[in-house]
Amino acid sequence: MIKSIRGTRDLLPPETELWNFIEGVTREVFRAYDFKEIRTPIFEETQLFSRSVGEETDIVTKEMYTWDDRGRAASDKAQSLTLRPENTAGVVRAYIEHKLWERPGVQKLYYIGPQFRRERPQKGRYRQFYQIGAEMIGPVAAGSESPARDAEILEMLATLLDRLGVEHWTLHLNSVGCADDRARYNDALRQALADVVDKMCPDCQRRTVTNPLRVLDCKVPEDQPIIAKLPRIADYLDEPCREHFARLRQILDGVGMRYEVNPRLVRGLDYYQRTTFEFTHGALGAQNAILGGGRYDGLSESIGGPQAPGIGFAIGEDRLVLTLMESAKMAPVLPDAYIAPLGTGMDVPAALLARELRRTGLVIALGDESFRLKKSFETAEKLGARAVVIVGENEVAAGEFAVKNLNTKQQVKIARADLGNHLRAAADGSGRPG
Ligand code: AMP
Repeated sequence: MIKSIRGTRDLLPPETELWNFIEGVTREVFRAYDFKEIRTPIFEETQLFSRSVGEETDIVTKEMYTWDDRGRAASDKAQSLTLRPENTAGVVRAYIEHKLWERPGVQKLYYIGPQFRRERPQKGRYRQFYQIGAEMIGPVAAGSESPARDAEILEMLATLLDRLGVEHWTLHLNSVGCADDRARYNDALRQALADVVDKMCPDCQRRTVTNPLRVLDCKVPEDQPIIAKLPRIADYLDEPCREHFARLRQILDGVGMRYEVNPRLVRGLDYYQRTTFEFTHGALGAQNAILGGGRYDGLSESIGGPQAPGIGFAIGEDRLVLTLMESAKMAPVLPDAYIAPLGTGMDVPAALLARELRRTGLVIALGDESFRLKKSFETAEKLGARAVVIVGENEVAAGEFAVKNLNTKQQVKIARADLGNHLRAAADGSGRPG
């Protein structure tokens, strides 16, 4: 038997209802903040990711699905392509390619779609996973660098999580400064680590050489007391970065947003500058980050674009579904009626009636003229249909159908013209949601 690939999974009904609910609410909330959707390709040139996410990051060194894509002719040069491990790089590439800075204001773009990383699969961590993300990017003159944008995006996230019914989330906030700050901080970290690194895990030993900042990400319990004593980035921020962070906090305080400043929050992608953040949720266990993001001033330049400061986030949709699975009381969508064609030749009038009713928005399950009436009723019951509409020769001739309500077991005759309203009224009366 052919099975789905490790780390990928099928999303089946009724769970897909929850995915649709999340995406529907998300689109509504983003709309209120004047964000517009962007859809970028699922694969891109490999160097887009190595140059933006960072050569030394786990994503680029270990986790990307990369292949050489040859043309038909043997002489065609192979191109190195990669399944996108995240979507910010693709959005910024599109921003540059389509000169979106020529459009007015800061670009406010969102996406919903699959991303791919070859990580060790576990609950809440998959190799194909889904992200809902948004970016605000534009020229400095449009205000893209302002901490007001950071605050706006964080407040939007809080509104979204509240609207979805995610309870007890925590916003962790930090500033990782600009490139100069980080260089000075990395030096300080290297010095501090020099004496203690032999006692740390192999990953930390490697990171101390390649990218000491990543040591702060370490989850190995034995390393935690050592990490707690390391210098803090806040002490290495220059004045403009310090001021930027202070102003962001001032706005968040002003709108009543709760947050915790977490000096260890550095995140796994190199392009972050200044503001970084994560929203966590207790119900998720080890993989407790529902979403993460930050500011990426300088990213556009690093892939050949103009100066275009920006800030964005990516929500792990799989994890959002996990947190809502318990709390959301999603009523499954059930058929308003099951149409039962009765006898040879009745498939056609039944299909016509189903077509009419479905076009008014009713949910209709359609039977088969080869079924005996008993089998039609059994099928309708199993599907959870609220009513059965019998379509036999006499009914069609009279323009009147026998409708049996499967809850009350009452059967009535309804004229064709009234059928839609009758079924709708029965559905509303049964306490059916929306
Ligand atoms: P990142 O793109 O690494 O900043 O991650 C943003 C969010 O995407 C995380 O907070 C997770 O919720 C989610 N995420 C990242 N990697 C995975 C994965 N392998 N499986 C499921 N969700 C993920």
